Amino acid sequence: MDFVGTLHGDGRGGLVDELGTPEGFAAWLGQRAWPGQRDDEELRLRALELRAAVRALLARVTGAGERLDAPLAVPWERALDVVNRTAALAPRVARLEWADGPRLVHLSGAGARDRLLADLATGAIELLAGREAAELRACPAPRCVRYFVRSHPQQVWCLPSCGNRARVSRHHRRKRA
Ligand SMILES: [Zn+2]
Repeated sequence: MDFVGTLHGDGRGGLVDELGTPEGFAAWLGQRAWPGQRDDEELRLRALELRAAVRALLARVTGAGERLDAPLAVPWERALDVVNRTAALAPRVARLEWADGPRLVHLSGAGARDRLLADLATGAIELLAGREAAELRACPAPRCVRYFVRSHPQQVWCLPSCGNRARVSRHHRRKRA
């Protein structure tokens, strides 16, 4: 979800894309302890394509309406294809290693770049089809484009700040009416 959340509202009606520049992408790779070259424009563009695809599937599963990121939307059939093709870039084999005790290790013959993207796509598939899928929500706050997994049944907003903003905006609308 933090991959998907690299695109978010700026609170003033615009969008912030943390992966929107090569520098931003390099910083994000740094957080993931990326071993390869950080100045990798092809990898960045592939990551953006995957993120748009995952967001399209999240929009469909949560029934998100028209939001600020709508101009970036891709048709969901295409999104499904992008996610599945990306996950297939790095087929994994489970291996049991045994030193102090049993430990699961995933082996893959794919290169680091394909593995990074395939891991993100696989994580998205596991989220969309997994046990947490029923708790996936699109935040309904004005100008918010985040998706989140509800941590309790009453959770409506992605963050408390979104709830506050929604209350303030309702208040202003009432005063104007
Ligand atoms: Zn929100």
